[in-house]
Amino acid sequence: MLHVDIMDGHFVPNFTFGTPITESLKRFTNVKLDHHLMIEDPDTFAPVFIKAGADCVSVHYEVCRNLDRTLHMIQDHGAKAGVVINPATSVRLLENVLDIVDYVLVMSVNPGYGGQKFIPNTLNKVRDLARVRADRKLGFAIEIDGGVGPENIAQIARAGVDWVVVGTSVFRAPDPAQAIRDMLKTADEALQVKV
Ligand code: ZN
Repeated sequence: MLHVDIMDGHFVPNFTFGTPITESLKRFTNVKLDHHLMIEDPDTFAPVFIKAGADCVSVHYEVCRNLDRTLHMIQDHGAKAGVVINPATSVRLLENVLDIVDYVLVMSVNPGYGGQKFIPNTLNKVRDLARVRADRKLGFAIEIDGGVGPENIAQIARAGVDWVVVGTSVFRAPDPAQAIRDMLKTADEALQVKV
């Protein structure tokens, strides 16, 4: 998947891009486009990004007044629906939407910029989510975003993460494709170690 960070300059102090980029990406690739909406008004813009080609759309818990409705709306428009929580937001607040969401995105940095340092206690949230998922026999994926690289990918995989967003440690690597292969290998090996 390609993870596309959409920032509106309000929810986060930064801008990225709008639907023309999504439309262009769609023309160049068949990989799924995962849209992370770091915006104040996902109810207005989620359908616009889905129409432009977003396959998965995640919205921040912190901005959704009617989260249940927003998640269903995304699914009704034909995309996978995810909910995102910031580092200061508890996973317990998601209890009543875990049977609706297709994925939960756990922010391991504060959203807004690339190149930040991974916040270690995020892995406790991942473990809690993985435990609840098993207990309740639910099927949502767990995604993590921020500060991920070769130095921590093994412990992240072991905590129960399914989708790992990687930016700086790929795009600043001398050979980005090799950097991805190396991290996948490290994650695979970490999952094979019995503890
Ligand atoms: Zn993101």
